[in-house]
Amino acid sequence: MKFALLAKTFNKIESTSGTLAKIDLLVKLFRGTSSDLVDKIIYLMAGHPSWMDEPEIGIAEKSAIKAVAQVHGISVSKLEEKLGKLSGQPESITVDLGALVESLKKSTRQKTLFDEGPLTITEVYESLKSIARFSGSGSSAKKLRSLEALLRRASPAEGKWIIRMVEGKFRIGIADKAILDALAITYTGDKVNRNVIETAYNICTDLGLIARTLAYEGLDGIKNIRIRVGVPIKMMLGQRLPTIEEILKKFGGTCGCEFKYDGIRIQAHKKGEIITLFSRNLEKITKQFPDVGEQIKRLPHDQVIVEGECVAIDPETQKLRPFQELMHRRRKFDIDKAIKQYRVKLFLFDLLYLNGKSYLNEKYEDRRRVLEETIAGSEMGLAEQRIVDNVDDFENFLEESLNSGCEGLMAKALNSKYTAGARGWSWIKFKFSYQEQLTDTIDLVIVGALMGRGKRAGAYGSLFGAIYNPDTDQFEISCKIASGFTDMDLEQFKKTFSSLQLVNKDSRVIDSPTIKPDVWFEPKVVLEVKGDEITLSSKYPAARDVIRKGYGLSIRFPRLVTIREDKKPEDATTRDELIQLYETQRTLQGKAKN
Ligand code: ATP
Repeated sequence: MKFALLAKTFNKIESTSGTLAKIDLLVKLFRGTSSDLVDKIIYLMAGHPSWMDEPEIGIAEKSAIKAVAQVHGISVSKLEEKLGKLSGQPESITVDLGALVESLKKSTRQKTLFDEGPLTITEVYESLKSIARFSGSGSSAKKLRSLEALLRRASPAEGKWIIRMVEGKFRIGIADKAILDALAITYTGDKVNRNVIETAYNICTDLGLIARTLAYEGLDGIKNIRIRVGVPIKMMLGQRLPTIEEILKKFGGTCGCEFKYDGIRIQAHKKGEIITLFSRNLEKITKQFPDVGEQIKRLPHDQVIVEGECVAIDPETQKLRPFQELMHRRRKFDIDKAIKQYRVKLFLFDLLYLNGKSYLNEKYEDRRRVLEETIAGSEMGLAEQRIVDNVDDFENFLEESLNSGCEGLMAKALNSKYTAGARGWSWIKFKFSYQEQLTDTIDLVIVGALMGRGKRAGAYGSLFGAIYNPDTDQFEISCKIASGFTDMDLEQFKKTFSSLQLVNKDSRVIDSPTIKPDVWFEPKVVLEVKGDEITLSSKYPAARDVIRKGYGLSIRFPRLVTIREDKKPEDATTRDELIQLYETQRTLQGKAKN
């Protein structure tokens, strides 16, 4: 199958608004694709040459720019200028490199090299895979040369999508959920089968593998999908409740309480000597935490999947250090130095897989017992736990947790399974702040900005944040964030957001006529914010009409807490959570009055 056909379909999907219409186009594409190609198309869309143990493409934006400059005989600085990347250029509508390649190829009418025939999907896929596999000395140069060779053969539209694949910036506004819908329609004829496919996807998030299984074996094959060590499992999440009484009631009087550590979640996979660490949004973070990887490697078992929270610690006293310290470890360079300067410890709290056996359907109590045995003798920590059956014990343990530098407690149902990808009622988080007033943080996807004035001229002065509605797969704007930014944050925003600028609003973003950003962004970055209160608002569309007709929910005086690099836009606070937080706040305010 020719790659040109794929590029044409992607162009169509990109310019189509509305998720359903985009899904229709994907279905058409899959229907015209042979079974052996469907996984390759999906991996190309993800900018990933495949899952299992494969390295990433590994071409940074700067190198991609170099390759484009070389192919078109222009200087790197000229290209950077066109991209709006030079200092003092943040206001310009920056073009992404893919779109720039397309227009360069069109305008220079550079001859596409058809000597070897037009590009096929398999060729592009295999080239990117071999680019990913170059390693060791001289690998950067080899990667660049291969990319240049691919670009030379590409037509304008093909060049655009090759660059976007390499950069992992696909921008066709289609999330995994929509791809699952399209797969269900294509291979089972009915969208209702999405649920079965999604269940398999939650325990084996290799979307290419899911698609290939569906194409060859249909739904029966999907039902036989099992955990694969090295392929991340969607993480189980918790709910919130405002009072200890309600939590105990929910669990029939007794539950397991664990310290809620304030760090980043890691799902660690061990397959013999191969260790892979995944973040909350299932990105590989093995390279950033080689020290944690070594500790996992030393576990005396061949195949293991465990989860825990990685926290900064003081190596002398073993005391927990603030979350901000851990952020110094989320870097790609100078890792050895950072390891020495900022020590971390992984506190494990769950076991998902051990030597060929899945523990997902085992009870929490049993998983915890086997976890303890599995990590016995390791330098890693085990999350502090206590079984509680009354308010006093819960409060005492909460106090212990806070005194140790934790955020609060995770209460867990003793007989609960590990439900991959679900935010269910088997885990309930309880932060101290719930008892005072509503001060839990909220995670918002940034979808647009107003340009700064005065001291903030030239920067993105305030950002529009949105919550996520999983039912409609849309982002509903909830507030404008303008506080809590340091100068460093403003610099960081310039770098991060300028490459996400869009000419038009993303079709998944819900705004209202009174919201007028200067620029729109591709919904990608999640910021954690802390507000004073959740208020009813006629201006913002988040959860509109739920509490009061004509009103949405907004966050009063939101301040930036941190950038949540470990969260995808779909992991932001959901519409239901925001409503729940509003209800909780009302309950607490009512209590305070009485
Ligand atoms: P948050 O934004 O508070 O990190 P979240 O959206 O990542 O939450 P939740 O289900 O709301 O996920 O809260 C659980 C999170 O708390 C986990 O993702 C994990 O990172 C962290 N955590 C810390 N200690 C524990 C623990 N003992 N058990 C489970 N999760 C824990």
